[in-house]
Amino acid sequence: MRKPAVDKTVAEIVRELKETSAAAVSDYREQSLKIHGLICAKCGREFDFKSRSLLTVHHKDGNRGNNPPDGSNWENLCIYCHDDEHSRGLLGDYIKGKDASGEMHWKKRAK
Ligand SMILES: [Zn+2]
Ligand SMILES: [Zn+2]
Repeated sequence: MRKPAVDKTVAEIVRELKETSAAAVSDYREQSLKIHGLICAKCGREFDFKSRSLLTVHHKDGNRGNNPPDGSNWENLCIYCHDDEHSRGLLGDYIKGKDASGEMHWKKRAK
């Protein structure tokens, strides 16, 4: 007996995304998808009408209130790349802080 467990999980995530995003976000989301197309700007994955709920809109300057109608602040990212985009930024800061203290330590030792 085969159960597509992964597919089911994704489908459930998508359903949740739909429910939470439908009310508030849909306006600029639709516009961004129209302007930039159903393609992830990062990994280049293409989406069709059915799978387009996996495509999200990222605000380049991080400000969700900044929604110019020409789409210059929007980037279409799949949910995976979008997640990556945000966690990488946080992680980058974290690592930078660590490196800075590590560097100081090394300079001290080198003298
Ligand atoms: Zn992607
Ligand atoms: Zn984002």
